[in-house]
This record gives sequence, C-alpha cells and structure tokens, in this order.
Amino acid sequence: MTRVYNFSAGPAVLPEPVLERARDEMLDWNGTGMSVMEMSHRGKAFVSIAERAEQDLRDLMRVPENYRVLFLQGGASAQFAAIPMNLLGERRRADYVNTGAWSKKAIAEARKYAEVNVVASSEADGFTSIPPFETWQRDPQAAYLHYTPNETIGGLEFPWIPDSGDVPLVADMSSTILSRPVDVSRFGLLYAGAQKNIGPAGLTLVIVRDDLVGHATPQVPSVLDYRVQAEAGSMSNTPPTYGWYLAGLVFQWLKAQGGLEAMETLNRRKAQKLYNAIDNSAFYSNPVEPSARSLMNVPFTLADPELDGLFLKEAEQAGLVNLKGHRSVGGMRASLYNAMPEAGVDALVEFMADFEQRKA
Ligand code: PMP
Repeated sequence: MTRVYNFSAGPAVLPEPVLERARDEMLDWNGTGMSVMEMSHRGKAFVSIAERAEQDLRDLMRVPENYRVLFLQGGASAQFAAIPMNLLGERRRADYVNTGAWSKKAIAEARKYAEVNVVASSEADGFTSIPPFETWQRDPQAAYLHYTPNETIGGLEFPWIPDSGDVPLVADMSSTILSRPVDVSRFGLLYAGAQKNIGPAGLTLVIVRDDLVGHATPQVPSVLDYRVQAEAGSMSNTPPTYGWYLAGLVFQWLKAQGGLEAMETLNRRKAQKLYNAIDNSAFYSNPVEPSARSLMNVPFTLADPELDGLFLKEAEQAGLVNLKGHRSVGGMRASLYNAMPEAGVDALVEFMADFEQRKA
C-alpha cells in the first residue's frame, strides 16, 4: 500500500490513525458485532458515540454552555439557505461581506429569502485582500452579519474577527474550523461542511447560540429548522451516523495532538514553509496580501502557465496529488488541513524547487 500526499481542498486527507482505527472497528464496533454503519441511530451504542463526539468537540473548541451543536446533512450549501430561514425572524434584511467565491454563493442563496446588504467587497482587487472593517456599510437593523473567515478557492483568510456589536455574527468556517482556537462566544452561529477538517463529506456542523434557535417560520423544512433539530439531538430524522462517528475519531485524534493550540502552531509552520518557498522564487507566485493569506488553502501560479500540466503530472509521479487549482481560477492550490503532515509540505517544497531548477 502506498499513501500519497493529498492536497485536495475537499473531500480531503484524513489522519492516518483515524482511518486505521475505523478499519479495525469496521466489522465489530466495541463488541457489538456490527459496524457503526449498521447500527440504529437511537440505540445505546450509537448514542454513546454521538455524545462523546459532541463532548470532544465542545472541549476542543471550548463551546460555551449556551450554544447548541448540531450534526446535520446538506453541506454548508444547505446552511446558505437555512441561515436566513432560521435567523431572519420578523426582520427582512441581512448583512453579508463578499470576499470571494464562497461568499458569493452564500449571498446568492440568501437573496432567495432576504434583502441582502453587501456591506463590503474585495471583488475589485480580485479578492486578494480583506476590506478594512472601518469601511463596512453595516445595517443596524440587519438580522445578522455573515462572512467567510476562509475562502477556500481564493486562499484568503481573516486574521481577525469582525465586531458586529448586537447583530449576531455568522461565519462559514467550512475550511478553517479546528485549524486554530477561536472564541466561539463572539459568534451567533458558525457552520462547516465536514469534508475538510472534520471528517467525510455528508456531515455538516452547526454551532448556534440558544437565543437564535426557534425563529424559523412554519414553512421551513423540519430538517433545516434549528429548533426541531436541537430538540431532537440532531436526530429529527436519521443523521449521517458514520460521518458523525468518524468526526468523533478525528476529535479524539485532535485532542491527542494537543488540541487546537498545537494545531495552530503546526499549521502556521506548514503554511509559512510553503509561502516562503513561493515568495523566495521568481517562478511561483501568490497574489494574496500577506496578512490575509490562508493557513489552509494556498493557491499559487507558475510564471509560465504552459508548464501547469507538466507540473501536475510530475508532482503526481512524486506522490503529491490534487494540486490543480479550482477550475474558476486555474493554477495550483495546495490545501494544508490539519491531517496534512508537515512532511507532505516539505516534500512539496522540495519538488517545487527541483521543478523550478529544471524548467524555469
Ligand atoms: N463554503 C466553503 C468555504 C467551502 O469551501 C465549501 C466547499 N468547498 C462550501 C461552502 C460548500 O460546501 P458543501 O459542498 O459542503 O455544501
């Protein structure tokens, strides 16, 4: 068996010890004589798995008591709709920040339900910077303020948390959750698809403050209604049980690594190695303003795009896969989620230097 270094933006690399444990427990989980996939979600065995996963996540992120943790389906994209459906209440308007492709998707979906006010946008500079907070045109009557702390495609990450005052702050943390500590109490709601830093695709995490639960209109589908799901322990219908279990194994692994402080140290070191390699070369470049560069997703281009195909082919031969940039922007992108070992970044940096030396 040969494992590769997988730089995919998602579904993405998972920690090897997690996969090994899942393999070992595949046919018989803890003496039950069955796989987690075969269990009733309401049985004692699965309920213990589910509760442990939630507790471990709460420990890792220091989630305050007055927040509910929901294990849902539909991806972050379902939340693009569920957020206005649940949070607008009596209001009509919501504030959104536009910092890239995923902000735009969230805005487009929210427009089906809300009057969206785009408070700031960095589209004019190709989404290579974060609009300074002082310039945001916020609406004091907005039901919430939505932003995307990490733009997975553009590789743009907020180094600060906006101060939204009394307006609940909502964050799409799909590609940054668990990569570093975050003060959950600053947020009204945060959400993330699992397939980057949490586990397999099919599971979506929502962490929502109590007072924001219970405002959905009667038309909202029950599975998307936070109150319904919170009251049912995320089991208003059959939850994604295997994804929930695997997420729980990832949470245990993160705790064993030293938690999110340790992940931040490692993630900063990994990202710095790659950005240094890019910045110290005339052949590779990254357009993002240095203070807003993502720790998780590093897009870069080659001086000669004609070499893109060869770069990808040779990288793959060297065991470095899924480096192709998103189809909307081209070039390359290396995603460096928690489960990407530092040795993978070292191997990539070494390959890049060698390629440049031979081809530039
Ligand atoms: N938001 C961000 C920041 C993402 O990176 C993605 C997926 N790449 C999504 C939303 C959409 O997630 P999903 O496919 O889980 O709906």
